[in-house]
Amino acid sequence: MNAFSLSSIVLVVLACAVSPLAAAEVASGGAALPTYGMQAIAPTVAAILGVPAPKEAEAPPIESIVQNLRGSQRVAILGIDAFGAAIWNKMRDKTPYLNSLALSNNQVQLRSVLPSVTCVNFGCMITGGSQKTTGITTFDSKIACEDLCSVLRANGKKSGGFGRKDWTGDRLLGRYADFSVPNRIDDADVLAGLMKVVEDQKPEFVIVQYGETDDVFHRHGPFSKEAAEACARADAWLAEIVPWLRARGYALIITADHGQHEITRANGTTGGAHGSASDVDCLVPLVWLPSVDRAQEAPKPARVLEQRD
Ligand SMILES: [Zn+2]
Repeated sequence: MNAFSLSSIVLVVLACAVSPLAAAEVASGGAALPTYGMQAIAPTVAAILGVPAPKEAEAPPIESIVQNLRGSQRVAILGIDAFGAAIWNKMRDKTPYLNSLALSNNQVQLRSVLPSVTCVNFGCMITGGSQKTTGITTFDSKIACEDLCSVLRANGKKSGGFGRKDWTGDRLLGRYADFSVPNRIDDADVLAGLMKVVEDQKPEFVIVQYGETDDVFHRHGPFSKEAAEACARADAWLAEIVPWLRARGYALIITADHGQHEITRANGTTGGAHGSASDVDCLVPLVWLPSVDRAQEAPKPARVLEQRD
């Protein structure tokens, strides 16, 4: 067998791994998924990259993710602001790309720390600490415990933190990471900046806040027609960034900082809010994926036998 036919087989394996057939194996609802505290993310990323967890982290790493991704050279966290598990469940027909990634063996749920707001939970993602440990009350807060970006720096690794101008991704994550992109007006603009940083600097850890979802959910309600359209745009954003990062050696963690619940305003219009301890505010999806090169290293044997075309 020559090298050409060998690489053809690898391609067939990959095609099967993301086929609609495989996607149909997804657990139908979120209820049965194992649920971990948001505090587990920073220790999980640290374990994947082979550095110590931030000192005050309040949870151990998530074993299933570490087992699958340990030894990856790079990790990216994609945080879709306010994309709660209940919202995803309701909007499945708007997220075909994310649905195709989420199989039975690469997703769990996270529970946001309280209050279920953005700066506290993105802060948790880079420290493993709840609010009493991080002391975060705004995106300009000084974090009171050790953070993952500092741990990585001490171990010769670099990080990037990204988000829209004057959002948490910019003001909090960008401040603690080695690289950020200032003055980005929308998510497409943030993505362009992130891509430039990744091409030029190849940081081992990247975390980005995708913002439009939270904005639209607040304005129109998280289960509105406008919210559905925002979920479709977030899915399209994922379809762009996920393959791009995976091809550059990044293992991915797709998640959210918190959910949202519907409110009715005094004038009768519908909106969205979050911050409470309710499941709809606190339970968020987590889907993980290895980088393309690592996915090729460990193909699923059963899939090799499947015929395509
Ligand atoms: Zn919000």
